[in-house]
This record gives sequence, C-alpha cells and structure tokens, in this order.
Amino acid sequence: MNTQWLAFTEQVKAHYQKDFVPLHEPTFNGKELEYVTDCIQTGWVSSVGAYVTRFEEDLARFTGVKRAVAVMNGTAALHIALKVAGVQANEEVFMPALTFVATANAASYIGAVPHFVDVSEKTLGLDPQKLEAHILAIGEVKNDQLINKETGRVIRAVIPMHTFGHAMKLDELQLICEKYHLVLVEDAAESLGTYYKGKHTGSFSKVSAISFNGNKIITTGGGGAILTNDEELANYAKHITTTAKVPHRWEYEHDEVAFNYRLPNINAALGCAQLEKMPEFIEQKRSLTAFYEESVAPLEGVTLFKEPVNSTSNYWLQTLILNDSLERDAVLEFLNDNGVMSRPIWTPMHKLKPYRECPRADLSTTERLDKKIINIPSTPIKEG
Ligand SMILES: *Cc1c(COP(=O)(O)O)cnc(C)c1O
Repeated sequence: MNTQWLAFTEQVKAHYQKDFVPLHEPTFNGKELEYVTDCIQTGWVSSVGAYVTRFEEDLARFTGVKRAVAVMNGTAALHIALKVAGVQANEEVFMPALTFVATANAASYIGAVPHFVDVSEKTLGLDPQKLEAHILAIGEVKNDQLINKETGRVIRAVIPMHTFGHAMKLDELQLICEKYHLVLVEDAAESLGTYYKGKHTGSFSKVSAISFNGNKIITTGGGGAILTNDEELANYAKHITTTAKVPHRWEYEHDEVAFNYRLPNINAALGCAQLEKMPEFIEQKRSLTAFYEESVAPLEGVTLFKEPVNSTSNYWLQTLILNDSLERDAVLEFLNDNGVMSRPIWTPMHKLKPYRECPRADLSTTERLDKKIINIPSTPIKEG
C-alpha cells in the first residue's frame, strides 16, 4: 500500500468528517422520533397497530407491487416467500453461491436443498446464461417439472439476489423460468430503491423478500417484507406469519402450524419514517458514487463497481474490485487501520460448513471474485 492509498483514506475521512468511518450507519433525520413516540404514547408498540398497515401500504406503493406483508426480518420474509411460492421439502432451489447466508438458510428451513450457481462479473448477481447451460447439462423436464438427473430431485425455484443493490438480468432469468418450469423468487433484501429496466426489483417474481436490518438502505431496527402481486398469496403470507389465527372476537382458533414472524408496530413506525426519506437516501448514495469515482481513480489495481446496464441501482454498499496485483487482506488491513472501515464479500455458500455438500454448477466466476471484492463506507450523507 502506498501514499495514494493513504491519500484515499484521508479523502474519505474528510468527506465524512470523521476519524473512523463506519461501513454503513442508519440515518434518522426524518419523522422517526415522532412516529415512535406516538407508538409509546398510545401504547401501540407490539404485534398490531396502524403503522404496520401503513408501512405495508407505503411499501407496496413504493415498489409498485399489489401487496407487501411486513415481518420481523429479511430471513423470515425469504422463508415465507419460498413457502408460499410452493417450495417443498427435498426439492432443490437454484441460488447464486455469492450471497448472504440467509438465502441458503431460508431454503433449508423448509427442508429444501440449495443448488448453487455462478454469478456474472458484470452484475455480481446470478448469471442466467451459465444457469441455462447448467440446466441443459444436469436437468430434464418431466411432467412440467425440472428434475436434477444427478440427484433425482425436483428443482422447484430460483432465487436471484441483487448484490449490493445492483439488479441482475431479471428479464433473461424470467425467460429461463418459463422455459424450465421454475418459480422465480427474488431475494431483494439489498435492493429497495433499485430498478431493472425502470421496474422495481422484487416486482418481477411471484413473490420476493426485502430486509430492513440495521445496515440496509432503510431500517426498522430489524424487519423485512414479502412482496407480491398475488392477493391470495399475500393473504396467506399474512396468515401464516401471524400464527394462522382464524379471526374471532375471543376464540383461539389456529388452522395450521404457523409462525410468529410479525413486525411490531414500533418497528413499522420507524419504517414509515425511513421510507419517506428514500428519495433523499438514493440521491445521496448516488452522489457518493461520484465522490468515490474521483477518489478511487488514482489507485492502481482497483475499480469502483458501477451499476450494470439496465439497472438503476440504489448503491447500497459501495464496492471495489481488486485486480491480481492487490492482496485483499492487505487492502482490508490498511483501510481498517487507517480509519476507513471495509469488509470483504461473503464467503461463498459452497465453502460454508452446512452447505459444502450441496449440488452446484461450475462456480469459476464466484471463485475468482471471492478474494477480489471489498465494500467501503456507504452511509448516505448530506454533501458539503
Ligand atoms: C440482509 C440480507 C438478508 C436477510 O435479512 P435479515 O433482515 O438480516 O434477516 C437476506 N439476503 C441478503 C442477500 C441480505 O443481504
């Protein structure tokens, strides 16, 4: 690491006016306190309340889907999304090897088996062309179902993920899904505010999931949502995330084994206030990209990842791609030592202990990118 890198860390600290710049902090400068105080003053802090309904309606409007169902985190949203999409135990689900562990865990919760496929260097998301080549190599369609010839299992669904807020090629994947009878379920946890060809991510699927964890573009403390254009699926998702209680004035009647995954009203209140700030956050995220474009330019062996063709990205986490001249851990150590918090991309799923034995395609791009990607501070701030 040289003086140019040192100059870079100085610029980032000056930009944020901080001696140590965290990776991503929540920003509460809207009506958060007002809405949360309202919950406390009225006593409506818990499992039901007006903010839950309002948050769901605001989210549906923002993302352009018919319905949103709020839940307690993004992992729960993915779990239920897969369940209502019809994924069953002992079926396989395609997903990128390069994702956060929640994608694989959600499939495992229903007893399904993750089947890892490769990503594209251009989007950092699932590569539809490589997926199709893999399907042709290992799959066969029988009775309108895709079967993995090697395991004998049905491959029911595919979960693309929009890495760091950059949309993968959704229309290409939609065609593959139609051709091979796969249900599309987007893991849109990172892509609230990201559009593919002008349409919000998460709205391309039968059902999809978002996260409002503390490090995401907006936060409810912890939270998530299921998105769908299917009213019936939405009602069912609401039902099984709220203990499957049959409405009655006093009886405790529950008509199936279900989950208590609801988002408390106090968290939804935070969400309503945060969602109001989305246009501002997006604008700030995008001007941060412009700042990094300039400050990263003098650094050798590294490129700032920019939004792929057809994606209007939320730039949730700013991303550097290192070339072979740079050792990832040396860069991480240098940046963290010099006040610029940075983190590597997740360990690919097929390298994690619980998922080592899962079926997988050729993962050469994932393998190549594994040690090449780091994230740098991305909190949206007011410029100047
Ligand atoms: C954050 C995230 C999730 C899970 O969200 P939680 O709210 O933390 O449970 C799922 N998938 C991806 C890709 C994520 O980044």
